[in-house]
Amino acid sequence: MLVRLIAPPHTEFHLDRALATILLAIPNTPIEVPPPVGPRLFSPDSTFSIDESLEHGGPVLRAKCRNCKNVLCAWGPTAHITQKFVHCGIAESAPPEIQKLYSTLYTRYTEAPPAPKRKPGQVVVL
Ligand SMILES: [Zn+2]
Repeated sequence: MLVRLIAPPHTEFHLDRALATILLAIPNTPIEVPPPVGPRLFSPDSTFSIDESLEHGGPVLRAKCRNCKNVLCAWGPTAHITQKFVHCGIAESAPPEIQKLYSTLYTRYTEAPPAPKRKPGQVVVL
């Protein structure tokens, strides 16, 4: 069991669990259980953007954080609403202006006529 000295320099060390339990039960014992260390948190510094997919031509919602370096890449009819960017200990939604723009671009993408299918080697004259 990990314990530490109550007095400075608060040295931490491992003790047999049975021995540590006995020592911790003694009044004015010189040791204590150190407080749990939480996850390392960064301060969020994220940006959201919308790109065009090279694969299907539709909009792609992207987010990145300069501090924790996490990224989000999502697409689909509800990506702007359902996808959360989880980073720095938080779960962020896209800002309202990005959600609105994504919705507009996705609607435009789904309403656009499909590109004509070409056979391999076929030349299309525009
Ligand atoms: Zn982050």
